[in-house]
Amino acid sequence: MGKGKLVVYTGCSGVGKGTIMKELMKRDNNIKLSVSCTTRPPRDEDIEGVTYYFVSKDRFKELILEDGFLEYATFCDNYYGTPEKPVDELLEKGFDVFLEIEVDGGMQVMKKRPDCVSIFITPPSVEELESRLRNRATEDEETINKRMARAEEEMEFEKYYKYSVLNDDVNRAADEILSILKNEKE
Ligand code: 5GP
Repeated sequence: MGKGKLVVYTGCSGVGKGTIMKELMKRDNNIKLSVSCTTRPPRDEDIEGVTYYFVSKDRFKELILEDGFLEYATFCDNYYGTPEKPVDELLEKGFDVFLEIEVDGGMQVMKKRPDCVSIFITPPSVEELESRLRNRATEDEETINKRMARAEEEMEFEKYYKYSVLNDDVNRAADEILSILKNEKE
């Protein structure tokens, strides 16, 4: 089987990238989402080994030294990183592997793997972003403010991504991403 596509998939907090991701995986069995390591505390909906591997800061630093990450970054005071080996194993098996990662990590992957496809998800508006982040109610006020500030910085990176996809509607955005993937594979 041929090698799958590596997809850098980025969008700021609250943009709805998780919802689009679920839709993509429902529609296309060949898409796999890479499971990252993080030092942030789990949320209610998190499942160890499915949404993330939750590790301590000390353990994360050990993993950095062991060179186990394809990329890693800090985001709002926590470390996040992509374990490299599982990604390569899935690509070898022919799966398309999505890395749902922030911009610093995205830039690292684009440099290390120039054959990757990079997709940036944009919100209909900044107001919409803030209301989604608040309605989700998974973070406290301080964290929401930090994430909003970071969101504005992250938008500056949109220009480095090959594709921008507007999340005005989950189904439409998923359609667009599947057609990008199809074109890139042809
Ligand atoms: P959250 O705490 O909301 O799950 O994630 C915060 C941010 O970190 C999101 O933008 C998410 O895409 C990003 N992120 C998740 N995993 C990784 C990773 O392995 N590496 C990097 N660089 N960012 C990640």
